Amino acid sequence: MEKKNIDWSNLGFGYVPTDYRFVANYKNGAWEEGGLTTDATVTISECAGVLQYAQTCFEGMKAYTTEDGRTVIFRPDLNAARMADSCRRLEMPVFPEDKFVDAVVKVVEANEAYVPPYGSGATLYIRPYMFGSDAVIGVKPASEYQFRVFATPVGPYFKGGAKPITIRVSDYDRAAPHGTGHIKAGLNYAMSLYPIMEAHREGFAENMYLDAATRTKVEETGGANFIFVTRDNKVVTPKSNSILPSITRRSLIYVAKEYLGLEVEEREVYFDEVKDFAECGLCGTAAVISPVGKINDHGKEICFPSRMEEMGPVITKLRETLTGIQMGHIKAPEGWIKVVK
Ligand SMILES: *Cc1c(COP(=O)(O)O)cnc(C)c1O
Repeated sequence: MEKKNIDWSNLGFGYVPTDYRFVANYKNGAWEEGGLTTDATVTISECAGVLQYAQTCFEGMKAYTTEDGRTVIFRPDLNAARMADSCRRLEMPVFPEDKFVDAVVKVVEANEAYVPPYGSGATLYIRPYMFGSDAVIGVKPASEYQFRVFATPVGPYFKGGAKPITIRVSDYDRAAPHGTGHIKAGLNYAMSLYPIMEAHREGFAENMYLDAATRTKVEETGGANFIFVTRDNKVVTPKSNSILPSITRRSLIYVAKEYLGLEVEEREVYFDEVKDFAECGLCGTAAVISPVGKINDHGKEICFPSRMEEMGPVITKLRETLTGIQMGHIKAPEGWIKVVK
């Protein structure tokens, strides 16, 4: 298949429409079969549930070309399961998990020409999402929904090496203790826009959110989970019911234990302990891990010994191992790599 004429390594993270997307509608209590379409637009009621009461959730994952030329997707079954959890919490009908994976595969196959070549650093980002599509004016769940999957090529997250970032401790909360922090709902992002823009205006790359109830424990950033490394090379990651369960973080934890033989602790992490860690990283699909060099807590700086020049050694090793598994130079655990072609 001939690839599109795109300058892959200079692509950013922006929406580039591709040729096909998947659409399925839910109506009269059932999902229709659904299928591919070339129509990139959505037409819905002015009073649609998504427009009035934000009844929507989404997922994000990547397809890429491995060293031996296969087109693969990383753990789409976990995205399917997580979207099912999001739907249940938002009173939306679950799109069957096996059909979710089939739809993702179909979209990647149909847009094969947009899957960046091996070595470019670029990937095909896949965005499944669902929304209430029929009119609701009294507050209640919609009765009709649309499930869609589109794909868009995105450039390498780090151009010219992964430089550590500086983040700040936020005065805003991301998620309430028994709220929706654990699901991938659009509403969690809507309310994070003001804090992230304020952080940027003040010169910080991200916000570190603390637990809303006590403001003593580390939660996550607006869109990535934390991984810390202790001075004796233990990997520590915060555990909380209001953190979004990152597939990248769960995969890195497995890699730390099973591939690198590191000790791992998933537990509550008090902000007071953060100053004693040796390394800090943010994990998510987009960057795998971005190193954090510095945390600003209301003017007081925590500087990790890994410093601002490069990633710390353990985070580097974790990142190299996981990207090696994704790219096919390191043998993947059973079921992690969905081969499209
Ligand atoms: C999507 C997301 C992540 C990262 O999850 P991955 O599955 O690793 O991409 C982390 N935090 C939040 C709030 C998210 O929405």
